[in-house]
Amino acid sequence: MRSLQPVRGTQDLLPETARRHRQIVETAREIAGLYGFSEIATPIFEFTEVFARPIGETSDIVAKEMYSFTDRGGEEITLRPEATAGIVRAVLSDGLVQNAPLKFFCSGPMFRYERPQKGRFRQFHQIDVELIGVAQPQADIEVIALGHRTLEALGIGADTQLELNTLGDPESRAAYREALVTYFSRRRSELSEDSRRRLERNPLRILDSKEESDKRVSLEAPVFDDYLNARSQEFFSRVCDGLAELGIGYRLNPRLVRGLDYYTHTAFEFVTTQLGSQGTVIGGGRYDGLAEMMGGPQIPAVGWAAGIERLAMLIAEPPAAKRPIALVPVGEAGEGPALKLSEELRGAGLPIDLGYSGNLGRRLRRANKIGARAAVLIGEDELARGIVALRDLDSGEQSEVPVEELRTRLAALNG
Ligand code: ATP
Ligand code: MG
Repeated sequence: MRSLQPVRGTQDLLPETARRHRQIVETAREIAGLYGFSEIATPIFEFTEVFARPIGETSDIVAKEMYSFTDRGGEEITLRPEATAGIVRAVLSDGLVQNAPLKFFCSGPMFRYERPQKGRFRQFHQIDVELIGVAQPQADIEVIALGHRTLEALGIGADTQLELNTLGDPESRAAYREALVTYFSRRRSELSEDSRRRLERNPLRILDSKEESDKRVSLEAPVFDDYLNARSQEFFSRVCDGLAELGIGYRLNPRLVRGLDYYTHTAFEFVTTQLGSQGTVIGGGRYDGLAEMMGGPQIPAVGWAAGIERLAMLIAEPPAAKRPIALVPVGEAGEGPALKLSEELRGAGLPIDLGYSGNLGRRLRRANKIGARAAVLIGEDELARGIVALRDLDSGEQSEVPVEELRTRLAALNG
């Protein structure tokens, strides 16, 4: 039956992978806390226009990656492809603007109809941080530092490199856009069909294309640097100086434009060479125009999103959970007391695995298989004397322990 397969591009996070995800989210949440970011959660689906308008009709996401549907009430709905638009929608609809600056952290699943491959899925997970309401370059620096510190805390700081660019203010962008249109129009025949469409609507996006032909043409395209006005130049150099001040190394990448329409000024990515062409682990930038695009006031903001699946492939195995204690009833008469005792011990904070069925040998094999630290054998005769047998599964030593001492003995072993 085909429906027993997960849908293409989705996957089950089995315990080993789920543990990696949790490690990443918990680390990021803790670091975000150091910067004063509070966790929020927005719905995983929104009205389609929440994404379509700000992300842009010519972006890959809106043009071909969104999971959109009409719900039973006739509403046009989209599963979120990214977090920023939903968060800004929340800021506007919950009337949070006057509390700015706002600092938000969130994590969760995102959905994009893409061609699945290593590090690229249709349901994937992101960590997302947004600093909303600050126009100064300090915000960009702080948000990048937060990304940098998170990667360091995950032990992959040395495996990743910060790439940096500026997209300038709207005036610079308009001047650059014109230069790009002139250039790409001359070489129109070499562009992919998608990029020919982008040429009219958003030529900047051609620089972000993954098509080989587009990449070749882009190589000789005019660079933004030559079209930045003084204000944009000043802003960018303050970001660069701030990072240098903090000892955060970066590489300038004039081709870095990012996939979404709403970016202005700073654009950045943390990339690794270890994941092939899916090498971007964090992508972000400043998006001063987004709130206005959604019908709100002008609110400057900057943020980033990290791909958890990609980070999970890079980090070291997270530390193992505390080893459980196996409670093994010996014979049917032991089962009732074992059940009761296991609840008492859990109440005292000990991780207990209760052996369900099978003979003693089988239950002990299971205890070994789950990596139990010790096994407690609970038999009728012993119970009558108020004792149980405690077997240290590392040393193999077994001793009799009075039931009332069991808790302390196990706590010492499990410590
Ligand atoms: P790419 O160029 O790889 O398609 P993007 O620019 O579309 O990335 P963003 O929208 O910036 O990606 O998302 C931020 C991060 O989320 C990416 O850097 C990546 O780590 C992760 N990500 C994006 N799309 C996917 C996906 N389909 N599967 C897994 N992770 C993803
Ligand atoms: Mg993409």
